[in-house]
Amino acid sequence: MKVVIATSNQGKLKEFETLLAPLNWQFYSLQDLGIDSPIEDGATFYENALIKAKHAATISGYPAIADDSGLCVDFLSGAPGIKSARYAGENSSDAENNLKLLESLENETQRNAAFVACLVFFDPNSDEDPISAEGRLEGEIARDSQGKDGFGYDPIFFISSENKTLAELGKDYKNKNSHRAKATKILLNKLLKEK
Ligand code: IMP
Repeated sequence: MKVVIATSNQGKLKEFETLLAPLNWQFYSLQDLGIDSPIEDGATFYENALIKAKHAATISGYPAIADDSGLCVDFLSGAPGIKSARYAGENSSDAENNLKLLESLENETQRNAAFVACLVFFDPNSDEDPISAEGRLEGEIARDSQGKDGFGYDPIFFISSENKTLAELGKDYKNKNSHRAKATKILLNKLLKEK
């Protein structure tokens, strides 16, 4: 079966292809098919992932898998959440977003947070409901930036059991334990059952 992985991020594409290999599907990226990205104006990770999956599936005619993810901080009532990429403003850099978050939690001891990823599989040729999966990675917001691996909020996301930030733990740790890896494994099992 031909399936679109609705991301323009090459790193994510590789990660999904590896984890979803047991399905034996032929995966295409948005770039492969010349498909643009839609406006993500949903109110939740699920809604945004569904918007992306439906957009890619409707244009290509193939089933599509899309994801949406972000960082939810308890003290900030779940912010930055779906606004994680632009917490410090439109087109803000990772460093600016991290700085804003550190400032928002200045002198705060309650620093629990979670990365959340939602994946949606949508088949434009079926009447079945979309299939979705959510994965979470619990941690704390560090007092300052540590480590150079990774992207986004990785340098300030502290895993206390490892005594390191995600940016210090690196790719292997993330590929096994990340919110996205967990959501992808859950989705894989659901899709294998449906096959
Ligand atoms: P998206 O799902 O690619 O739209 O991710 C939205 C934003 O969430 C990213 O720009 C990052 O700021 C943040 N984010 C999502 N996943 C991660 C991660 O694994 N590490 C660090 N930041 C992440």
